[in-house]
Amino acid sequence: MALPHCRHFLLIHLIILSATSLASPQEQETPVTRFQQYLRINTAHPQPDYASAVSFLISQAQSIGLQYRTLEFSPGKPLLLLTWLGSNPSLPSLLFNSHLDSVPAEPSKWLHPPFSAVRTPDGKIFARGAQDDKCIGMQYIEAIRNLKNKNFAPARTIHVSYVPEEEIGGLHGAAKFVHSVDFENLNVGFVLDEGQASPDDEFRVFYADRSPWGLKIKANGPPGHGSRMYDNSAMENLMKSLEVISRFRESQFDVVKAGKAANSEVISVNPVYVKAGVTSDTGFAMNVQPSEAEAGFDLRLPPTANPEEMKRRIAKEWVPAIRNMSYEIIEKGPIRDYTGRPLMTLTNASNSWWLVFEQAITFAGGKLAKPEILSSTTDARYIRQTGIPVLGFSPMSNTPILLHDHNEHLRDTVYLKGIKVYESVISSLSSFMEA
Ligand code: ZN
Repeated sequence: MALPHCRHFLLIHLIILSATSLASPQEQETPVTRFQQYLRINTAHPQPDYASAVSFLISQAQSIGLQYRTLEFSPGKPLLLLTWLGSNPSLPSLLFNSHLDSVPAEPSKWLHPPFSAVRTPDGKIFARGAQDDKCIGMQYIEAIRNLKNKNFAPARTIHVSYVPEEEIGGLHGAAKFVHSVDFENLNVGFVLDEGQASPDDEFRVFYADRSPWGLKIKANGPPGHGSRMYDNSAMENLMKSLEVISRFRESQFDVVKAGKAANSEVISVNPVYVKAGVTSDTGFAMNVQPSEAEAGFDLRLPPTANPEEMKRRIAKEWVPAIRNMSYEIIEKGPIRDYTGRPLMTLTNASNSWWLVFEQAITFAGGKLAKPEILSSTTDARYIRQTGIPVLGFSPMSNTPILLHDHNEHLRDTVYLKGIKVYESVISSLSSFMEA
């Protein structure tokens, strides 16, 4: 007897479901559903769907009357630029940047599929990119939508950029953009780029990134029987380097552990691979000392570090040629601006953009934490290279830091509050006349 009842229930349920799905998109759309739509576009590497993301964002720009254009500095890697013209376009403009791409996700490790943008009953929206950094990309647009609805008219022109390839170094995105005539013509005075979530109720803000270097070291030496003790084997030389590098790492880490500096304020060096050994069909030959050995390191230099001094240390102490060793430093982006100064944006009274930004956060009822150096790296370094001030900021307070992690998510209430924060930031900065 239960069966017909069940069927009846199922039928009603289906009717309700189809009625919902038949409703026009406009009727259903909210800032949160638009955010979910953007999150559902898979822009994760290695094959980011830039075309769909750009066409979605263009439709959003059109719906609020923003000008838009697509630039392409590398084939198949579009950069979208939205513009809200100010009443005084001769003033330096504002640029709000985010990146289109994401890092890959491992679906089997997630509670919900990473491109489903599922919203749980407690308001968590699960998706790759929810924090890094599709949230800000959509919040910029929503804030502008709300300001337009309030008939706000900016004095300064506002640009919003969506760049490709940030997650793989930005060489085919922001790096080319900042060197283009298109960028120069924007006459940018101040930039906001991505930041990071904060587990407490203060917003984090970043005035610099650390500069990443890849370091590969190679050792060569005479091969020999595994039983022999002799000098200058490749492995011996590599191990000596590893010891020296480890001691340097410890000296930096001790400063952090003693509470004298934040993680992002010291030079980090971490081994990422070691390659050596002679192989045969049965695996490594355990009785052969190899003639080559190699190791790779991830180095991060804060803007206060001296890159020349670091290079001297590597050449003299870490990888001395006298031990038959060689090395390669892969510098991933700039470390100084065009005038030779460290890539830092001032966060004191001498930077009036900073003062206006800080005040705008207070107006929105938010609180800023002490400005920090970002441990990792963003496209902001390319813009700082031109001397333009840039702050890294993503308004996510009371939020676990989940960028690049499994189950990346953002709470809907945090997302919506962020829109209000940007309304305050955009209206204050665009009305500020002095800079
Ligand atoms: Zn990011």
